Amino acid sequence: MQGFTSVLVLTIFFIVYVITDINSYKQRKIHSITSLASVIGNNSISTLEFQDDDEATKILFELKNVAPEIIQAAIMDKNGKLFARYLKPGTDSTLLTSVVNNNKAVFHGGYLFASNDIISKNEIIGKVLLVAGLSELQQIKQAKFRIGAILLVMALGFSFLVAYILQPYISKRLLYLVDSIKEVSISGNYEQRLEDNGKDEISILINVFNNLMEQVKLNQRRKDEFIGIASHELKTPITSIKGYIELLNVIEDKQPNKQFVIKALENVKKLETLISDLLDVSKIQSGQLELNLSKFNIEDLLEETITAIRVVSGSHEIIQQHNLHHEIILADRQRIEQVLVNLLSNAIKYSPGEKKIIISTAKTGKEIIIKIRDFGIGVPKEEQLNIFERFYRTKDTSANISGFGLGLYICMDIIKRHQGKLWVEAEEKGSSFYFSLPLE
Ligand code: ADP
Repeated sequence: MQGFTSVLVLTIFFIVYVITDINSYKQRKIHSITSLASVIGNNSISTLEFQDDDEATKILFELKNVAPEIIQAAIMDKNGKLFARYLKPGTDSTLLTSVVNNNKAVFHGGYLFASNDIISKNEIIGKVLLVAGLSELQQIKQAKFRIGAILLVMALGFSFLVAYILQPYISKRLLYLVDSIKEVSISGNYEQRLEDNGKDEISILINVFNNLMEQVKLNQRRKDEFIGIASHELKTPITSIKGYIELLNVIEDKQPNKQFVIKALENVKKLETLISDLLDVSKIQSGQLELNLSKFNIEDLLEETITAIRVVSGSHEIIQQHNLHHEIILADRQRIEQVLVNLLSNAIKYSPGEKKIIISTAKTGKEIIIKIRDFGIGVPKEEQLNIFERFYRTKDTSANISGFGLGLYICMDIIKRHQGKLWVEAEEKGSSFYFSLPLE
């Protein structure tokens, strides 16, 4: 913008300057040619009176030395008959007929035409006609435009240089603010506060941002507190309801009552999972999610989990491809099982109509990597980071498949607490979820 503005201003100034300069050159030219015509007129009075056309022609030919820009000249007698004339070789003689007979000088078709009456004793006895070439004007114009072009290029380069050097200083704070906002929107870290000591509009903006972050944090804390209290309060009655329904399930034989009891039990289990997830979230938020570390064989845990999943969900075939050799890890067995169950359940849930899920393991350096590959709906690239946020569900799934968007958030926290990594990669069809755990 800086560069553009300076170039625009410079161009306007330059155009005004060139026009003014050319106009003043033209005025000077008009003045000099009319003076010349008047001098020739005065010198030709006697030649007209004595009908000495040779002398008149001599006077006109003198122009070749005195005023080389004059390409044609003529003296007419009082009847308008040609008395003497001078034509620069190679010029078109009809030009003289274009001269306007009113004692004026005019620019026309690249020439300057002038006429002047020859007066003797208050009587018009003839007329001088002059035609001047304007090659000098063309040269001036060309020189001016050349200078203009050079100046423009220099101004453009200079203003870009200045803008390039100054821009980071001027917009540094603004970019800092923009980057921070982007970071918050990606990471969801509302702890972010920006430092600024200025007193200008950018400082006001930074203050507004800080206040906003404070407000968001406060609201989040209130929400987390509410979730924590509500899920805690719900846990006891749900456990008790589940106990009674399980009892009913054992003692009830009659149909359709038995069917109703089974349905009630299924839904109570869903509620129980939700409450347990909410409690985990509230523990993560308050930093109270603790790990009970123990050493165990990861392959055994995988086998147990897959068996348990097969019991509840027979819709998919879980194929195992292991490359581990009795690896023992130090981790919270229950929490790693929770991660496995979550990822496997998601793989099943988000690949309706598909049959296959592949779970593979590998050891790289000092860590093991577990991959859960499904052939379902997949996770769009632009949402691959978001799905690990609380309550985030992809646009494709939120309406069709039930869920709360908590599982991956909890899994991520559990894996991070184990110094591991959890990530997703898009496949040609479906997606692969990976998590790594350190061996030591
Ligand atoms: P929930 O499944 O209860 O919604 P999660 O935290 O487990 O919660 O998952 C968050 C979101 O990530 C899901 O809503 C879904 O949009 C997406 N997602 C998770 N796993 C898969 C998968 N295997 N395939 C496609 N999308 C998935």
